[in-house]
Amino acid sequence: MTANLLDFDLEGLALFCERLGEKRFRATQLFRWIHQKGAASFGEMTDLAKSLREKLATTAHIKGLDVISRQISADGTIKWLFDVGDGNAVEAVFIPEEDRGTLCVSSQAGCAVGCRFCSTGHQGFSRNLTTGEIIAQLWFAEHFLRHHLGRQDRIITNVVMMGMGEPLQNYNELIPALRIMLDDHGYGLSRRRVTVSTSGVVPMMDRLAQDCPVALAVSLHAPNDALRDNLVPLNRKYPIAELMAACNRYLLHAPRDFITFEYCMLDGVNDQPEHAQQLIALVRQYATGGVWCKFNLIPFNPFPQSGLVRSPQSQVLAFAKILSDAGIVTTVRKTRGDDIDAACGQLAGDVKDRTRVGERITQQRTVMLTPVMSRDRKPEGM
Ligand code: SAH
Ligand code: SF4
Repeated sequence: MTANLLDFDLEGLALFCERLGEKRFRATQLFRWIHQKGAASFGEMTDLAKSLREKLATTAHIKGLDVISRQISADGTIKWLFDVGDGNAVEAVFIPEEDRGTLCVSSQAGCAVGCRFCSTGHQGFSRNLTTGEIIAQLWFAEHFLRHHLGRQDRIITNVVMMGMGEPLQNYNELIPALRIMLDDHGYGLSRRRVTVSTSGVVPMMDRLAQDCPVALAVSLHAPNDALRDNLVPLNRKYPIAELMAACNRYLLHAPRDFITFEYCMLDGVNDQPEHAQQLIALVRQYATGGVWCKFNLIPFNPFPQSGLVRSPQSQVLAFAKILSDAGIVTTVRKTRGDDIDAACGQLAGDVKDRTRVGERITQQRTVMLTPVMSRDRKPEGM
């Protein structure tokens, strides 16, 4: 089998080129063709010698993911469902804002952590994505959007690893993907604009700090172990005290001087004033000086099997006020794309239920762009 070049960061590609008897700088050219120009075939890489292109054609390929469906929300959010084989699918969501374009990327098909409020967690774990499958989401979305918007400049300015899966439980595949995102010859994203979100895999937070310190978001969701054990089962392995200590260690290497705590607001479960007070005490206990965290309150996005209810907006605002009054910067996440189930925690990727996918496509309210690309084609127009 030939190598999929989407699997390699620049260093990996350089080693691959060396094995072909080529100079390392060829890897940089190749890498730029793939990630900056969206090339999916060697024939179009006109500044590479024909002999090299022929050699590549017999040893390598560039293969993205098949798109099963694309949905466009009334607010401009776009969700793609990608086929990753064996009946599994993963989702990526593009969220346009005035000053940025954010892509929410998946790291696993399903998730083994099994948080109670998360539909991916309810689905169970299927498998880790490869580096190529993680980066294919960005590769596809960036070049698809450039083509359709008729732009040459970068459209996706931020990546959040907040799609399906726990990125730090797929560490070895995640790191090269992050490096490709950051590489100036790749997507050239700043470390501050690439965020890994984790439910708290403590040892891997320490490794990430060393290997590839990007912005970090930690899914806290509860102010004490009893409640967190129940909502985020991983807490039984890495309880809050260990998690807080790991956050403090991470800050020594982080590109930002704060950690974002995500907190999903569940009616009557974790949204009471006493929970906010406990959070304040927790943050103060671990503060080593100055501001070190921000809170992002996420209105719960319900799904049928959860048995949980979204906190009323008034409750969310009251909770935010208690934290803010204590000097903790707190934001309430705007829910985007909820008309197409693209909001946090609604990503289920149930490809087995194809009738539902079909239904969704016909219900699509906004304009279709163009037909989705197939496996062997490069992003359209490139
Ligand atoms: N596994 C990682 C990243 C993916 S989940 C993590 O847990 O951090 C991304 C964010 O969406 C997390 O903060 C997660 O807690 C939140 N989330 C999951 N299900 C949700 C739901 N139903 N409503 C709102 N937010 C949810
Ligand atoms: Fe996994 Fe994150 Fe969902 Fe928890 S919230 S089940 S860690 S994807």
